[in-house]
Amino acid sequence: MKNCIFCKIVCKEIKADIVAETNNSIAFKDINPQAKFHILIIPKIHIKSTVDICQHNIHLLSDIILLSNQISKSTKIISNGYRWVFNTGKDGGQTVDHLHMHLIGGQPLNWSPA
Ligand code: AMP
Ligand code: ZN
Repeated sequence: MKNCIFCKIVCKEIKADIVAETNNSIAFKDINPQAKFHILIIPKIHIKSTVDICQHNIHLLSDIILLSNQISKSTKIISNGYRWVFNTGKDGGQTVDHLHMHLIGGQPLNWSPA
């Protein structure tokens, strides 16, 4: 998708600190980390948000989750826990309109979204 910053990361038009990748997904460090460990995992094809997940692309979500588990195991953040976050739309605080999962951890996390 033209003008999508995450599509540009997928096609390497914009540099990112990529930590892992599969045929369908790519994981890279968040440029503005909210915790000691903060990466984003995205589908390589442009899906706008969780609203657009359907029967035809649900396998891409599984791929993201499996890649997250692979990363959390290899980095050891799995031992103390972590958080998955999908922000959706304006009220959800989504700022980049390309579906992404935040994988956040590496320290105790607070919880006060509202
Ligand atoms: P959200 O607010 O849920 O849409 O999350 C978007 C995330 O993308 C934010 O945490 C940003 O810090 C992150 N972000 C934006 N641009 C980049 C970039 N070029 N490389 C890495 N992370 C980015
Ligand atoms: Zn995109």
